[in-house]
Amino acid sequence: MTATDSADTTSPDEQLVLGLVEQLLDEHPPAAADPVEFLGAQYDLGLGWVHFPEGYGGLGLSPKLQRPIAERLGRAKAPVAYARNPIGAGMGAPTVVTHGSEEQKQRYLRPLFTGEEIWCQLFSEPGAGSDVASLAATAVRDGDEWILNGQKVWTTLAHLSRFGMIIARTNPDLPKHKGLTYFVVDMHAPGVEVRPLRQMTGEAEFNEVFFTDVRIPDRERLGDVGEGWRVALTTLMNERVSIGGAIQARGSGIIREAVGAWERSERTDEVARDRLMRLWTEAEVLRLTNIRAQQLRSKGVPGPEGSVGKIMSAELNKRVTEFAVDLMGPQGMLYTSFEFVRPESALRWDCPQKGFLRMRANSIEGGTTEVMKNILGERMLGLPGDVRTDKELPWKDVPRS
Ligand SMILES: Cc1cc2nc3c(=O)[nH]c(=O)nc-3n(C[C@H](O)[C@H](O)[C@H](O)COP(=O)(O)OP(=O)(O)OC[C@H]3O[C@@H](n4cnc5c(N)ncnc54)[C@H](O)[C@@H]3O)c2cc1C
Repeated sequence: MTATDSADTTSPDEQLVLGLVEQLLDEHPPAAADPVEFLGAQYDLGLGWVHFPEGYGGLGLSPKLQRPIAERLGRAKAPVAYARNPIGAGMGAPTVVTHGSEEQKQRYLRPLFTGEEIWCQLFSEPGAGSDVASLAATAVRDGDEWILNGQKVWTTLAHLSRFGMIIARTNPDLPKHKGLTYFVVDMHAPGVEVRPLRQMTGEAEFNEVFFTDVRIPDRERLGDVGEGWRVALTTLMNERVSIGGAIQARGSGIIREAVGAWERSERTDEVARDRLMRLWTEAEVLRLTNIRAQQLRSKGVPGPEGSVGKIMSAELNKRVTEFAVDLMGPQGMLYTSFEFVRPESALRWDCPQKGFLRMRANSIEGGTTEVMKNILGERMLGLPGDVRTDKELPWKDVPRS
């Protein structure tokens, strides 16, 4: 393809954003720039989330333009907001921009994008995971404040977080989905206690979090009182896309791990090569499926198609890391260190064995594969719904253990 051909197929919006990317790279060369400064400049140019409104890290353009931006910045080895603050950038920001007040958008979005303020998601509880709407943490109104009590669990990166997205029960007399309200909680407020939960990798990347009479100003509510479930759906829909919807260049991402493991092993037999080619094909199907989903997606909250990428990426990640460990032979059973550490990131592993152990959780976190299949069956294939006996009952009358 010649330069002229490529110019012909590039839309004016794409030319605009690619011009801004070059300006960003000229003014802040990634090799020399401080990551916070670089990401701040990216946000200010509207290249953070290009589909967000102007002034909030976006330009009000189609979300599909984020891909050429990411590809160009990736080639330039620029810092990535998602890597520094995965829950904030992938889920917190779209929730704030959709449901937040003007004050909340101005306060939260930029430091979230630069990674100066890390966010966590406080949805799951010991008695409420897949059925998160049955949760029991309470928020009781006291003038201009709410008093929060309860326990959350599996809270990724809570130990590093400045803010958390939390849903709490504000009316136990209503059915479970209707009595919930959504807040941004200050993780440094008095009464917030974060305790590590150690995983089978040896690390404690997630936590249990206890709230005892924590005061949340009413201005930190996201959405109306009793509308918490509607706001939570924005977070959850974005979570699935954020986990499984990444579109990387062909051959990069998790499949590069498989190719790297195969090259390191120096295996030349057909069995190993056949396994690698199957994985490659699956990775490519996932990549093309995600490209199609992104092309079809208009602005706004993603739909149930995000569950397809979520299921496929969970299974692919598990199979790739299993392949990598298998190729190591008996050495794959050795583990470098089981030291208890508090990682700075939820996305990195330093040896194939750790990758193998960590990826087992992919079909649980962000909604289990079984629950994703329910969503696809009901919302995309129109199959009969799951059995739900408690949907219309007041929450306080639903038996719980
Ligand atoms: C690594 C990791 C990180 C996490 N990070 C966070 C976080 O940051 N914030 C947060 O809020 N939560 C987080 N979670 C929690 C996660 O969202 C829940 O673990 C998940 O939703 C499942 O809930 P549960 O563990 O209570 O299992 P349960 O809901 O008790 O499910 C148990 C089993 O029953 C199956 N099941 C349940 N209901 C159905 C159904 N209707 N149909 C068919 N099968 C069903 C499930 O698929 C599963 O196999 C994290 C989890 C992990 C593993």
